[in-house]
Formats: sequence, structure tokens, C-alpha cells
Amino acid sequence: MQTQLADFIRDTPEGREAEDILRKCVHCGFCTATCPTYQLLGDELDGPRGRIYLIKQVLEGAEPTDKTRLHLDRCLTCRSCESTCPSGVHYSRLLDIGRHVVDARVPRQGADKLTRRVLREFVPRPALFGVAMKAGQAVRRLLPKTLQAKVPEARPAGRWPAARHARRVIALAGCVQPAMAPSINAAAARVLDALGISMVEAAGAGCCGAVRFHLDDPDGARADARRNIDAWWPEVEAGRIEAIVMTASGCGSQVKDYAHLLQHDPAYADKARRVAALTRDIGEVVAAEADALAAVLAARSLPRQALAWHAPCSLQHGQRIRGSVEKLLAAAGFELTPVRDAHLCCGSAGTYSILQPELSERLRANKLDCLLEGGAATIASANIGCITHLQAGTGTPVRHWIELIDARLGGQPA
Ligand code: SF4
Ligand code: SF4
Repeated sequence: MQTQLADFIRDTPEGREAEDILRKCVHCGFCTATCPTYQLLGDELDGPRGRIYLIKQVLEGAEPTDKTRLHLDRCLTCRSCESTCPSGVHYSRLLDIGRHVVDARVPRQGADKLTRRVLREFVPRPALFGVAMKAGQAVRRLLPKTLQAKVPEARPAGRWPAARHARRVIALAGCVQPAMAPSINAAAARVLDALGISMVEAAGAGCCGAVRFHLDDPDGARADARRNIDAWWPEVEAGRIEAIVMTASGCGSQVKDYAHLLQHDPAYADKARRVAALTRDIGEVVAAEADALAAVLAARSLPRQALAWHAPCSLQHGQRIRGSVEKLLAAAGFELTPVRDAHLCCGSAGTYSILQPELSERLRANKLDCLLEGGAATIASANIGCITHLQAGTGTPVRHWIELIDARLGGQPA
């Protein structure tokens, strides 16, 4: 694609990056067919190729409008288009640049502005979010249905094993997961303990930064990243850990991107590269120990159970991890049912379910139809956002896959 970027951005790092991305796009439109919002709305401007055009026009000097922003806001950042693109167009980076420019030129007003500010300030603070979630869970039955859907029932986490092994990893606790599903990291710690690896959480780490980053606060996201790096650095520098483990694939996608996020920060660029290189999804860590897991499972009874697997976009498109969790679940005795349109987003997409509720609910309804048509008794996924969002639309239990493996190893019932 030919480009002629406007003076305001041409000679900036963002301009150069945007130009490289735009020049790779050959307008073929293959990506449009796999875009969830295009499938729902049927408008070229609600698909990746149309959004690329909109961003190109703005970067070339056209004045963006409310309508430009609306089409960009409707994007889930699911990155399905990146998986489809034969030319390697890094759409999500272009979107980040485009959204930032458009947000600065078309300032948000009223409820939209307020909601985004509240989300930016409230969600990434685990202590504050935890108090609110506990209060919500205490009166859950009295809440209106829409609020009930955002407040999962409290489930016990179970014991956290003592750090007894020479092999060690650090896990990110994250912002909302400790309050919404503390059972996930505890289950991961128990499974890894059974495989001879101790998992610890570092005091001082918190939100990965994805919430602020996707709400057009890149400086806030960089601050989150620096704080996490500071919390992990003593263990990293001393060589005491094998990996930094993410049990939420959305966080994994963000932390693996720290090297890019902090590339222009002389004090943190090298540390960010090291941290990103050490970061692994829990699925990658367990898959590397598949033989040890098989040996532990061999001693257990493994009743066959029909299970539907929902691969979060941040896992399959963001981190390009495909197939490994499915193999682990099959090894643990689960029969994975066929799932139609497995590449499509469930509509959770970080704060999308709050900011675009109508589209989000339509995507969830479609996704649940696809997940349940094979007769699954349980749905498994790998990201707290997807799990909570899907659970709000079905009575079928939705669990993190590591909780199901943990239960099979005699840990907490899932
Ligand atoms: S990121 Fe997802 S929603 Fe956005 S354009 Fe790509 S496929 Fe469509
Ligand atoms: S598939 Fe890739 S090259 Fe083709 S229009 Fe989409 S982004 Fe451009």
C-alpha cells in the first residue's frame, strides 16, 4: 500500500512503524472474512481492511470524526485478522497508533469519557477491586441480573504448596483474577508442584498493564510494566527462576510485549527484553513437562468427560499458542468436542464487554452455541476475562483448564 504520512507523524517512531505496517498490506481482504465484527455488522469499515484504510487516511492528514472513532472502538483487538493475513500485517500495532491519534483529535465526552476513566483507575488496582468484589459476592443474590453477571460466585482456592523444589517459577497474580478466581493460580501452583516445580508470586507486582494500554493510557501501561519488572527483577537477576508464568493469556500477551512497550526507555529496555523472553503461558510450562504429567496422571482414575475448549484470542492469535492445551486435556481424560468457528472471539476482550455491551453479548451467544452444540458438560478456557464473560451466559460450568487438571490430580474440585 502506497503511503504519504502527514508531517505531524512522519518522522516519529510511531509514524515509521505505521508506515512499515501499512506498506505490507496488499488490500487482499482475506482478513475481512475472519473478523468477528465484520461478520456481525457486514460493514467494510467494521473489518480490518476498512479500519486500516481509516487509520491510513488519518495518518495522512484527514480529520477523524466520531464515526472514525466508532469503527475503531468496535474493534475487539482479537487479532484474528493477523492470524489470517498472508502478508504478516501487524494490525494490532497499527490500531494502537491509530486509536491514540484519533482519541487525541476527537476527545471523548460524557458517559464514555467517565466510564473509561473509572475503568482505568479502578480495575488495575487489585486491593480496591478485591474489596469491591468481596462486597459484591456477599450480596450477589440481591444484585440486578446485569451486575450479577460481572460478579462470579466465590469458590475456594485450596492450599498453596510450600516452595520446596529447586526448580522455581514466578507467577503474575494480576489485577482482577485474585479477587474473581483465586483458585486459578493456586491450581497452577499445585499442578507445577506435582511436576517438581515451585511457583511463587512476587510481592509488589500487579496489573500487567493491558487494561490501561487498551484504554489509551500507554504511559499508565508503561508504569505498570516498570513496577512489575521491579518486583520480578531480584529473582530474574539472581537466576533463581526458570520462567515468569502467566495464567491469564491476556496478561501473557501483554507481558511478552514489554520489550516493545519499553523499547525507548533507557533504564528499562534491557530488563524488559529479559522479562519478555522469560515469560511463558502456563500451557507452555506444563506442555514442556508433558511426560512428567502423564506419569502422575497414570496413577489416577480419569473418567471420560465431554469438554469444549475455548482458546482465548490472546492465546491463539496474540501468543500463537495452538493445540498444546488441547493435548494436555486429552491426556487427562477429557474428550474434546468439535467447536465450530473456534477462531472467533467470545466478546469479552478486556473491557470491551463493558464498553460495547450489545456486540459483546451477540458474540457470546454465538460462541456459546458453538461451544455447547457438541454436548460438552464443561467449558475450559485460559483467560479470566473469557471465563467470567462466558459463565455469565450459561449454566454449564466454565473453568480454567489448569483447574481441571488440578482436580484430576486430586487438588481442589473444579
Ligand atoms: S482485531 Fe479482531 S475485531 Fe479487530 S479488525 Fe482484527 S479481526 Fe476484526
Ligand atoms: S489480509 Fe493482510 S494484506 Fe490482506 S487486506 Fe488484510 S491486512 Fe491487508
